[in-house]
Amino acid sequence: MSKVVDQWVERLKGKTKPVGEMTHWERMAAAFDLKETDMVPVAPELDYWQITYAGYSHKEIYNDVDKTTDACIKTWADLRCDAIWMYVDISHQIEHFIPAEKRPEYFIHRGKDDYLLFKPIAHSLDEAIALFEQRVWEKYIDGSRPVTHYTPHMLQLLEFQEKMDRQVPVIVGIGTPTNYAETVVEVQNFLKWMVTEPEDKIRYYLDLVLKERLASLDFYAEFAAKNGAQFCCGFGGARTWGPKHLEKFGDVDRIWVDKAKTIFPYVFWHICGHNLPKAMETVSSWDGIKAIQYDMPYYGQEIPWSQWCEQMARLMHGRQCAMNSPTTQMACHGTPSQVSQMVAEFIDATLPHTTACVMPGCEIDSFSPVENLRAMINTARSRRGSA
Ligand SMILES: [Zn+2]
Repeated sequence: MSKVVDQWVERLKGKTKPVGEMTHWERMAAAFDLKETDMVPVAPELDYWQITYAGYSHKEIYNDVDKTTDACIKTWADLRCDAIWMYVDISHQIEHFIPAEKRPEYFIHRGKDDYLLFKPIAHSLDEAIALFEQRVWEKYIDGSRPVTHYTPHMLQLLEFQEKMDRQVPVIVGIGTPTNYAETVVEVQNFLKWMVTEPEDKIRYYLDLVLKERLASLDFYAEFAAKNGAQFCCGFGGARTWGPKHLEKFGDVDRIWVDKAKTIFPYVFWHICGHNLPKAMETVSSWDGIKAIQYDMPYYGQEIPWSQWCEQMARLMHGRQCAMNSPTTQMACHGTPSQVSQMVAEFIDATLPHTTACVMPGCEIDSFSPVENLRAMINTARSRRGSA
């Protein structure tokens, strides 16, 4: 039982005005199932933004689970998006790989609205392999933020979801094998080693990471799915891998999806940054992924926005719901009318081919103006969704 959740449930249950004919949950589920919806669903990834919006600083919520949850629910109550994203930062993902006394060296707070920065926890492929061979997280998990912060926060939001009778789904975000493989060493280092290190050593490392990620899904089955979670975002890595690397090593993510889909009915993939057509093809070919949160085309591909969206929608036809728009840059730096236009172009280009969900390719910048969020939401709300 959580006091912060109960206060919100008391304030909101039976008192929120319906948005459209479907509930938020029904709208998201239908889009994932490629069915018609009363409105195009809208579910921007608000993790850091909602903290700022609710009037907290990131330092303030860092050790305060109740305030973190309060920020997420307050934001939902005001904006009524079709899903609630958990707040997640990098410490939730890797603090249990680091001994307690060393943690302060690895995580850095800058300004009050800024992202938490971190330093890579392995500096060579050998060091990274050793972390996973020795299963260091088993030694360091007690008192680490996955236990003290991430899990209680997730449980509070799921308690809210259930007590509100599943009006609105909570999205549980989980790092996939390639995401972890890259994060613990920093993406650019891993990309370099893919060229300089022997292939079987890369393979060995990825298999170790896969093993850890598959085991972590047992935790999610026990603590997320059993408490009502049905929507899961797989934070993918491998965003700039070439076709050869995807063919050689991309199967670790596919194997992860094969297990994730047995735990969560609604799994979607997050592939942000500048997307390569080959990476998009690979991800959309995996069974079990019901939606893809994609981003901009790769550098140098001079292609108009609506054409890019159409190309991706065709790729996902009959397979996935397309999630995008506006870009995170536009959400932060554009005007409300530019945001609306970009969202409308995405919807127009997508709906002839598959369902759409309005959701920028990556998380909303903490400094994005609320007017832009409202423009995004209103544009989605003004359109029926169908495939
Ligand atoms: Zn991202």
